[in-house]
Amino acid sequence: MGGVPFVGVVALLSFAVVISSPLGSLTEPDYSKTARSADVMVGQAHFDDVQRLIRSAGLTSTVTIENVQKVLDKDFNERRREKRSVQPDVTNTYLKHNEINDFLARVQSTATAADVTMGSLGQSFEGRDTQYVTITQKTAGGTKRDKYLIVIDAGIHAREWIAPAMALNIINKLAFNPDNDTDVAEMLEKFDWVVAPSINPDGYEYSHESRYTRLWRKTRTTKHHSYCRGVDPNRNFGFDWNPAVGGSSDPCSDIYAGPRAFSEPETENVRQWLTNMRNRAKLYLTLHAYGQYMLYPYGSDENRRREDEDLLVEVANAFANVLNSKGRRYSVGNSAGLLYPAAGGADDYAKGELGISLSYTPELAPGADDPKVQTDWRVGFMLPKRKIKSVADDTWEGLKAMARRVFDEYDNATDDDDVSSRSDWDGWDDIFDEWNDDAFGDD
Ligand SMILES: [Zn+2]
Repeated sequence: MGGVPFVGVVALLSFAVVISSPLGSLTEPDYSKTARSADVMVGQAHFDDVQRLIRSAGLTSTVTIENVQKVLDKDFNERRREKRSVQPDVTNTYLKHNEINDFLARVQSTATAADVTMGSLGQSFEGRDTQYVTITQKTAGGTKRDKYLIVIDAGIHAREWIAPAMALNIINKLAFNPDNDTDVAEMLEKFDWVVAPSINPDGYEYSHESRYTRLWRKTRTTKHHSYCRGVDPNRNFGFDWNPAVGGSSDPCSDIYAGPRAFSEPETENVRQWLTNMRNRAKLYLTLHAYGQYMLYPYGSDENRRREDEDLLVEVANAFANVLNSKGRRYSVGNSAGLLYPAAGGADDYAKGELGISLSYTPELAPGADDPKVQTDWRVGFMLPKRKIKSVADDTWEGLKAMARRVFDEYDNATDDDDVSSRSDWDGWDDIFDEWNDDAFGDD
């Protein structure tokens, strides 16, 4: 990015239109499907051209951030000055990689409201350990019954800091119940929760590094190009993998899909991790930001057959209704239809390849018209850390509603308490092997 000042423009689309321009920022991806508005970041040198282009397409636009670099500078300077405590509070701090792993270890050893075990997805390209936790109902001895899983990951896109923060807050709420929320016990009674808060740790750490790296999105691999680094990991999963659909074959692009599916150790780690849980996982959420959308597959093709679309929408609405009631307007829809087609996403892989039917990409705060984050400028990825708690609290309420709806769907299907003998299960032998794997081991 360098130290070039940027000018943010929001194009308010009044009708579907294909914007074509020699400028990469408007041609990739194709915004013709964008329902309402799109945020576009433009270098100062191109500002007048882009404004002309927007006008000639019959669109209106508003400048939301006059100088993005100024915001990045301010944000970075504030962070540099801040005193880090040894145990930073996840409700008001964006943790760095080592702090995340320290937090998870602490949760494992000191959780009061649940039993927590820590595991690893594997290492990133730069050798960072990618950790997850399994959170289960506390048992006073005896054998623990394996439950269906809610699986959550976050941070696949490095700059979307509220996503790892949200995942850490979910862990915090389940493990310590800091708000004395009576629903926590119910959530742990209904499901085991598996949460990996930061699955692209190299990119995430790089986005913390300087005032010029805050908006890094990709991994940090060096093997695909002489100087352009990284792959967009959410274009790198192997279901309908296709750089031409919402991605790019250019290693210097922010949406480079990689030379082939699963070219990145980070996506391969997630693939293995999800594959091991495929039969127990009933809800998979891969957290992103921003825009306040609850997106469901298939990102590669909105017309690809989904026999369970009604259920996908119902479960998403359970979440969105709660968030809407709290003044955070969420839109629910198929990602290709609501935003734009993009192949190679984690949610498509989880659903299409692994059969985890209820797979979603929540795009967390801020949203376009969110009164709770409105300030004199819109903040986008630079959501101030003082907003973490309110976003986490509201989003948690929505997740609980979602979990209840999923539970009703799968657990009312049978009166049998033994999860392993349910008729909607297949591949029983594989599952049995997985259960004996240390990954979930309580028995
Ligand atoms: Zn993202």
